[in-house]
Amino acid sequence: MKHYDVVICGGGVIGGAVAFALSRNRDLNIALVDFKKPGNASRASAGGLWAMGESTGLGCGVILFKTLSKQLRQGADVSDASAMKPHIMPKPFFDLAMMSNAMYPALNQELLEKHGVDMKFEKTGLKFVLFDQYDRIYAEHIAAAVPDRQQHIRWLDKATLLAEEPNIAPDAIGAMEFDTDHQINPYRLNDAYVEAARQNGVDLYLNTSITAIERQGHRVTGVQTSRGKLSAGMVINAAGAWAEQINLWATGMQMPVFPVKGQVLVSERLPKILNSCITTSDCYIAQKDNGEILIGSTTEECGYDTRTDLNQLKSLARGAMKTIPQLRDMNIKRCWAGLRPGSPDELPILGPVPGIAGYLTACGHFRTGMLTSAITGKLLNELVRGEPTSVDISPFLYQRFLHDKGEKADAAYSVTASSSSENRIANS
Ligand SMILES: Cc1cc2nc3c(=O)[nH]c(=O)nc-3n(C[C@H](O)[C@H](O)[C@H](O)COP(=O)(O)OP(=O)(O)OC[C@H]3O[C@@H](n4cnc5c(N)ncnc54)[C@H](O)[C@@H]3O)c2cc1C
Repeated sequence: MKHYDVVICGGGVIGGAVAFALSRNRDLNIALVDFKKPGNASRASAGGLWAMGESTGLGCGVILFKTLSKQLRQGADVSDASAMKPHIMPKPFFDLAMMSNAMYPALNQELLEKHGVDMKFEKTGLKFVLFDQYDRIYAEHIAAAVPDRQQHIRWLDKATLLAEEPNIAPDAIGAMEFDTDHQINPYRLNDAYVEAARQNGVDLYLNTSITAIERQGHRVTGVQTSRGKLSAGMVINAAGAWAEQINLWATGMQMPVFPVKGQVLVSERLPKILNSCITTSDCYIAQKDNGEILIGSTTEECGYDTRTDLNQLKSLARGAMKTIPQLRDMNIKRCWAGLRPGSPDELPILGPVPGIAGYLTACGHFRTGMLTSAITGKLLNELVRGEPTSVDISPFLYQRFLHDKGEKADAAYSVTASSSSENRIANS
C-alpha cells in the first residue's frame, strides 16, 4: 500500500487548485484521485471570474432577478421596484471572492512561465446590459447595496455601450459594468492546475474512483480506490457535488452539499463579436478564447439529473438573441448540463470537521468555484501546514451546520496530521 502525506479526493478545479498549491514547495507526497462523473462542474462551467457580479446576484444569480422582475413587470408599478432586492452575498464571501480574483494575473503568469500551461485569462469586465427601467432600477439597487465598491462600477450610457460593444442590440439603454470581473477558459484552468501539480510531483490517479475512506477511531487514515488502497496523513474532500458521500465515509456525518444543475449552450466559433462578458436579465453571454459564444445558464435543483431540456435552452437562446441580434444566424455546437456543488447558504465549506483528525473539506463552491479556486488552494495549503490562514475561515467552516450547542462545544479540537513531514493542523 502506498503512503501519501495528502490524498485529494476529486480532480475538478478545486482539487486541482489544492494539489497545485500544496505541491509548490515539492516537500509533500501528494496524490490526486479523480473519476469524472457525469455532470462534474468544472467541465460545465462558463469560466467567469465575476467576483463583483456573482457577489451581487448577477451572473448565474441573474435568474433570481428574473423571477423578481417578472413579478414586477406583471404588476407594472415602478414604485414596487423596492421589492427587487439584489442578491448580495455576505461580506466574508464578497471579500474572499475579490481576494481570489486578485490572484489571477500572477497565477496566470506563474502557470504560463513555470509550467507552460495557459488558462486563457482575459481582462474583459462584466457588463450588465440594461433594456428597460426595471433593469436600470435593479442595477441602481445593486450599486447602492455595495457603497464600498463604487470604484469598480462604471455606468455606460447607450452611446458608450454601443461604441464599446457594437453588436449589442440598439434597443439596449445602457449598462452597468464591473471592471474587476474577467474570464478564463474553465477546461484549461482545470487542466492547468492538474498539469502543474503533476510537474511538481503530484501522483495523478485519474479514472480512479474512491470507494471508501479508511478511519482508525477519530482519525482518517487513507482512502480505498478502484486501484487499491492509499494510506494518508491527510485526506482532502474536493469531490464537488458528490462531497457528501466522501464526508459520510470520513466522519459518519452528513454534509449539506447538493447538486444544482446549470444548462449551457455553446455556439460554433465566431469572429470576435464581444469585447466584454455580458449579463442580462435573461442570461449571460461570454465569447471564449476560441471564438465560441457561451450562453448560460439555468439554476435547477433536481438531484443528479444531467439531462438538457429544449425549453430551457430555447429560453437562454432567446435571451442571447435579444441582446446580440446577429446570434440568430449562428449554429449551436453543443449544449450540456453540469452540477454545481451547492450549499444551503451558498458559501463554500472549507477546513476541518470537528472531532475528526486527518481530514479537511474543500467543497460547496456552488456557482463560483472557478473564481474561488485560487484562494481555496492557498487556504488549504495553509491549513495543511498548520499556518495561520490569510483569511478568517470561520464563516466557511463545516461547524456552522452543527446546530446543537453540545456538538459545537465538542468542536474545540486539535487535529494533527500523521504525515511523514509532521505537518500539523491545530484549531480551536
Ligand atoms: C453551468 C455552470 C456554469 C458555471 N459557471 C461558473 C463561472 O462562470 N464561474 C465560476 O467561478 N464558477 C462557475 N460554475 C461553478 C463551478 O464550475 C464550480 O463551482 C466548480 O467547478 C466546482 O469545482 P469542484 O472541483 O468542487 O467540482 P467538480 O468540478 O465537479 O469536481 C469534483 C470531481 O470529483 C469527482 N468525484 C466525485 N466523487 C468521486 C469519487 N468517489 N471518486 C473519484 N472522483 C470523484 C467528480 O467526478 C469530479 O471530477 C459553473 C457551474 C456550472 C454547472
